[in-house]
Amino acid sequence: MTTPLSEEIRALIAADGPMPLSRYMALCLGHPRHGYYMTRDPLGARGDFTTAPEISQMFGELLGLWAVAQWQQMGSPAAFRLVELGPGRGTLMADALRAARLMPDFGAAARIHLVETSPVLRAAQARTLAGAADVAWHDRIEDVPDGPALVLANEFFDALPIDQYVWRSGHWHERRVGLDDEGHLVLGLDPAPSRAAPAFAAHLLPPAEGAVLEHMESGPARALSALLKAQGGAALIIDYGHAGGYGDTFQALEQHRFADPLAAPGAADLTAHVDFSALARIGRAAGLRAFGPLEQGAFLARLGLGPRAERLKRDAPQEIRAGVEAAARRLAGGGAGEMGRLFKVLVLAHPEIGLPPAFDSTEERV
Ligand code: SAH
Repeated sequence: MTTPLSEEIRALIAADGPMPLSRYMALCLGHPRHGYYMTRDPLGARGDFTTAPEISQMFGELLGLWAVAQWQQMGSPAAFRLVELGPGRGTLMADALRAARLMPDFGAAARIHLVETSPVLRAAQARTLAGAADVAWHDRIEDVPDGPALVLANEFFDALPIDQYVWRSGHWHERRVGLDDEGHLVLGLDPAPSRAAPAFAAHLLPPAEGAVLEHMESGPARALSALLKAQGGAALIIDYGHAGGYGDTFQALEQHRFADPLAAPGAADLTAHVDFSALARIGRAAGLRAFGPLEQGAFLARLGLGPRAERLKRDAPQEIRAGVEAAARRLAGGGAGEMGRLFKVLVLAHPEIGLPPAFDSTEERV
């Protein structure tokens, strides 16, 4: 399919040669005029994918209770930043703030900061949070003002650009997006061995021929870690992902189906699974403690998903009860199409604030 962006990307490749995957992904998702997130609200049944806060209010509510408990462990500071990275429609934050009303001092102390690049989604967030909170928006984590911070990030890191390297005859070669003889976009390998890749693979087992190594753009994770180390606080990071290793997880989603990531630049969502061991390493290198990754199902159970679902079902009509049960299963179940095992939870925390709620000391990554 020809899109406005595919013309532009073809012209760039024709002029400069094949481009790294991270450049392609950054253009497809973030191009100011034609980028996927810049031009649409991709969430929900009529969009391309559905996220946990859009499945049920219970998700955001339980994360709100987690934030309250973490704030209390920090000594209930009278002012702190409640930050969300990539807040989508603002649903998670609205549900979290509603649940946190149980503890009015938390709401009074929280200053809401949303890190969001999409003008369409900023507008949706403003609508959702109108009346609930005063909100400041930022393009980048670096722009969040100083002060202790609690940070929530659901399905944010999977949207960050990645690079891929393929192991061929004893060397890593960078995967690039180029043009075939007919001018169509194709994936190929840089013939020269990559100079960057060996450092990214240093902690892994020796690769087999054809192994694929992925490396996520690390700027946001570094900025987040620097903020927490300097200002105090913790980040709760939830995404689908793995604990490191080799494998190709680059994918496109269009109308809830997997699609060819090169077929419709700017018109399909592009993601990669999050490497939680890389996030933990970045956090620890900055002087933070890292906990998890814990499976989302176990995490939500510890926060009280069961009792919360029972409470919502009490006195509700039959169809609402069935809906609550289905949502709880989708969020926490381990079956096909359910998120409980596929999604993982990692906490990065300042070393002085103790164990994060819902984690025990054996779950620290060292
Ligand atoms: N957290 C929401 C939305 C997930 S979709 C939910 O769970 O429903 C990814 C979100 O991250 C969107 O809001 C998107 O606009 C935002 N985003 C993607 N790349 C970003 C970047 N580089 N900087 C800031 N926000 C980004």
